Amino acid sequence: MKILVVGAGISGCVCAYQLSKAGHDVVVIEKGRGVGGRMATRRVGGARIDHGAQFLTARSTRMLALLEGWKTNCDVMPWYDRIPNRPDLPTRIRYRGSEGMTSPVKRLAQSFSSELGFFVDRIVRREDGWLVVEAGNEERRLVADHLVLTLPSVQMLDLFDRSSLALDHETMERLRSIRHTRCLALLGLMEDKSSLSHPGATTHPVDQVDWLSDNQSKGISEQPAFTLHASDAYSREFWEAPDEERAPFLLEVAEEKLGTRITQWSTHRWGFAKPVVTFGETHWHSMEMSLTMAGDGFGGERIENAALSGWDAADAVLERKST
Ligand SMILES: Cc1cc2nc3c(=O)[nH]c(=O)nc-3n(C[C@H](O)[C@H](O)[C@H](O)COP(=O)(O)OP(=O)(O)OC[C@H]3O[C@@H](n4cnc5c(N)ncnc54)[C@H](O)[C@@H]3O)c2cc1C
Repeated sequence: MKILVVGAGISGCVCAYQLSKAGHDVVVIEKGRGVGGRMATRRVGGARIDHGAQFLTARSTRMLALLEGWKTNCDVMPWYDRIPNRPDLPTRIRYRGSEGMTSPVKRLAQSFSSELGFFVDRIVRREDGWLVVEAGNEERRLVADHLVLTLPSVQMLDLFDRSSLALDHETMERLRSIRHTRCLALLGLMEDKSSLSHPGATTHPVDQVDWLSDNQSKGISEQPAFTLHASDAYSREFWEAPDEERAPFLLEVAEEKLGTRITQWSTHRWGFAKPVVTFGETHWHSMEMSLTMAGDGFGGERIENAALSGWDAADAVLERKST
């Protein structure tokens, strides 16, 4: 069966990986230049910076199985199990990607083909499956017997609007109810190593900041580089503000806590950071429509739950084949 998966985040890639392992012809479509979605790593000069998700954890049998594969291929390695002065946080091993958080996703992507830089503008339901059309390029279009959507829910709803498509009333209402936090990220280069002790990360150094880390201590950057994640409240307050207005306070906190000067920085806005209200089921699937939906808005917070959502979606598609 020819299957198109829209979205190359962890949910889309786990789904595509399972489907291609089962022998299907799978293509993942992604608007970005690479795979990973919110598991994002950026190069700035000679530095490597994780500016989205910082680590992954594994509790379920399925995630542990994925983790074993990544460990065997040295795609991930243990980072830390506790942060100094935070006895309240669970002592569970946090894994980092070997070359940033995209490493494990890149491994999965070796088992299927990807169409990158492809913003899906419209999906068209046909008698024998689906047609997927790129924005601004009617000629770049792909067809499939089955379609899997793994976009954050707001982007999914926008896509349905552009495609003049609606699912049943209850499903649309549940999709509309999904909520994510926002996160304003500040990332950049430091003059010197930070003064943060192992693991090179601190949580909530002030109310307005959720996370601050040193990517060199983390082991992914040869040059001193940092990541700061502002809280949901701060991010919302300054979402539309220019950098000159929203960055100075964050820079001040970063320099003070890192104990060194910041020499270069930029911001990134994550409009859908972590889900706070979910769909209520790990995925949605319609055999009749040849359509499946997954992602963290279904599976829940954390990379693990997004991955499991993608895996459940693949199971649903595979059952469809066997019936
Ligand atoms: C700042 C931040 C920090 C986080 N920290 C952690 C952490 O430390 N540990 C943890 O477990 N989780 C963390 N998370 C959450 C975790 O990253 C997510 O839950 C998970 O990565 C979501 O995966 P996904 O596949 O559901 O979605 P995504 O990764 O968002 O993938 C969806 C993909 O769809 C693509 N797309 C959207 N629209 C279109 C379109 N029209 N056409 C084509 N492609 C499209 C997007 O570009 C994206 O690549 C963090 C998230 C953020 C933002």
